[in-house]
Amino acid sequence: MSESVAICAIRGAHSIVARAEEMLREAMAVIGPQAPVSFPATAYYLPVLYGLTGHRVEKLGDLLWPLEHAGGILPPLPDDPKLPYLEETLRAGMATLFAFETIEGVRFARGEQPEVREGFLLNGPIDDAQIRSWGVQMVDGRMVGFAVIIGEAKTNEVAVRIVRQFQSMGLLILLCGSIIDQLLEEGVELGYNTFVVPLGSDTISAIYAIGLAIRVAFSFGNVSPGDSQQILEYTRIRCPAFILALGGLGDLEYAAAAGALNCGFPVVADAFIPDIDPNLVSMPFDEIKAADDMERADRMVKQSIQIRGIKPKIVAVPIPVPYGPAFEGEIIRRADLHAEFGGKGGLCFEWLTTGEVDGVEDGRVAVVGPDLDDIEEGANIPLGIVAEVAGQRMQKEFESVIERQIHHLINGADGIEHIAQRDITWIRINKAAFERGLRIRHLGDIIYRNLHNDFGAIVDKIQVTLYTERVMVEELIEKARAAYRERDTRMAGLTDDAVDTFYSCTLCQSFAPNHVCIVSPERAGLCGAYTWLDCRTAYELNPKGSNQPVPKGRCIDQIKGEWEGVNSFVYEHSNRSVERFTLYSLMDAPTTTCGCCECVMIIVPEANGVMIVSRDDYSMTPSGMTFTTLMGVVGGGHQNPGMIGHSKFYITSRKFISADGGIKRVVWLSRNVKEGFAEEFKEACEREGVPDLMEKIADGTTATTLDELISFLEEKGHPALGMGPLI
Ligand code: SF4
Ligand code: ZN
Repeated sequence: MSESVAICAIRGAHSIVARAEEMLREAMAVIGPQAPVSFPATAYYLPVLYGLTGHRVEKLGDLLWPLEHAGGILPPLPDDPKLPYLEETLRAGMATLFAFETIEGVRFARGEQPEVREGFLLNGPIDDAQIRSWGVQMVDGRMVGFAVIIGEAKTNEVAVRIVRQFQSMGLLILLCGSIIDQLLEEGVELGYNTFVVPLGSDTISAIYAIGLAIRVAFSFGNVSPGDSQQILEYTRIRCPAFILALGGLGDLEYAAAAGALNCGFPVVADAFIPDIDPNLVSMPFDEIKAADDMERADRMVKQSIQIRGIKPKIVAVPIPVPYGPAFEGEIIRRADLHAEFGGKGGLCFEWLTTGEVDGVEDGRVAVVGPDLDDIEEGANIPLGIVAEVAGQRMQKEFESVIERQIHHLINGADGIEHIAQRDITWIRINKAAFERGLRIRHLGDIIYRNLHNDFGAIVDKIQVTLYTERVMVEELIEKARAAYRERDTRMAGLTDDAVDTFYSCTLCQSFAPNHVCIVSPERAGLCGAYTWLDCRTAYELNPKGSNQPVPKGRCIDQIKGEWEGVNSFVYEHSNRSVERFTLYSLMDAPTTTCGCCECVMIIVPEANGVMIVSRDDYSMTPSGMTFTTLMGVVGGGHQNPGMIGHSKFYITSRKFISADGGIKRVVWLSRNVKEGFAEEFKEACEREGVPDLMEKIADGTTATTLDELISFLEEKGHPALGMGPLI
């Protein structure tokens, strides 16, 4: 660490701590120490302070201690510039983080956050639910890392170039400062959907990026609040983040950089930094001078992913618009619409089917009927996408898994929005994409190139035909519907009892080393993202990957769902920490839970039943714990009789805690799950002979304490009260 950089950082830390103290004092004088302080949609208080110190901030007065603490660790300004200052700089960085979060806390208390800038809402902190969904994308490799960009790019053009490059590599981009205006001026879509999220208008808002990393550690790493060593080790090893500092760096930016270094995040600058630390880098001075703006931007992009060891995810798709996972969530407004297929009153379907090897011509993409040039702007025209695949290892049952990919593949193009699937597909193309030359055949190119890339191990040949001729679409949609029906019937017959092999998923071992998901036809992985068929297909694609076949072997207990084959697999793959594993029992050797479960279920002995809380429910539950607190108990890859993590969909399964009485045991359920799956629950309840069960299950609006819960259940006559004892 260079002496001058260290001195700047320490000086910056002193002044920001002083500024935070002053702001806090002022705010306390105006709105009082009892004024509430909280970030929206998080259960982790002010997450950086909570994570690194264990201190819970709920009101202004709670911010006094963190600042006192920051003052305590702040090193004095050095008078001998020759001493090595690495340790002092890191401490100054830590004090800076505390001061930054205090300032944002005060701003929230005063109603000044999240900021609105020229009519556009800057995000501020990221929601817990969003972090979890990104976390799952990190686990399965769709998202390769986080880029935090601070400051102002040399020109608007440079700003767009940097962001587009990171987007197409599969990075999440978090923005602080003037670059936000530059991107807005250039019409770049910002928000969770596009992976380009504005945090705030100054360097201080970078604290929200650190708060995100710390909550990733909480969600997936089973760390304890206050254990800063454990948390910082987690962020250093598991959060592939870095900071890109644009424009000149002042004391404050150096202090912030020192804060980021604590988390293991390197900082790359476009201005020259003297005497470079390996994690605080810029280009050499003469190269900066020689390079033009665009070259410099490209160089920085490369440098920053290299220094963090990030491998970009790039699939070259030959279409005239940018392409990558970052464009997946794009929404196309009516005013920007050039053409659409399907949706209300429209007709659109997509169907992937297995053809004879000889009948499929690899690489053939054809449009049958008019293309975009021949139709009126804004029109809704029929479209049938038929992808025919062939290959020695292709199996009929993989069709639905591969077909489902079409949704995110087409969404990856800038300027195309794809909604739903099968015969309710709805595709919208915007004017800008049309003007750049995008035509219907490119949908075929996207499907062809990606399916070859992702499923090359099972499909050898792919041809795609895009029908826009109405009569043909009408005719083919019936054929497609017959195929969907046939698949559904086959799926309905696919039960745990009907197969002799389950599949494992050990993707989460990077987060929870002893955790294994055993995925059966009637029980998906606890993140909700992997079904038995998904795992089976993944195994065919990569026989050495995270999804392995698990032969059930001899049945030990039919009711609880215990098999010799499963037990020995789990024992081997849990670092020999889990000896027995039952799939259908909550009480006896239940499955382990990692950090990404959609829901947590916990026994409520007083009600002779169980309650289920979903991750996107932040409210207090009758167990006296929120989702986060429950996760703290159950997560981390251990077995906890009486408690498991599971997917939302599992609640509707025939095998849902079937050893303990099934769905009739549910006495409390997060309201959003109740509403989101209303149809499926109705069906499941009818199947189990309790058609009116849903009305008898309490939620956050009817019971938040145990007493309220019991009286609600008694009043409704909930069946669990009359069932045999659960324990
Ligand atoms: Fe993790 Fe289980 Fe989901 Fe696999 S199925 S990603 S192990 S939670
Ligand atoms: Zn997990």
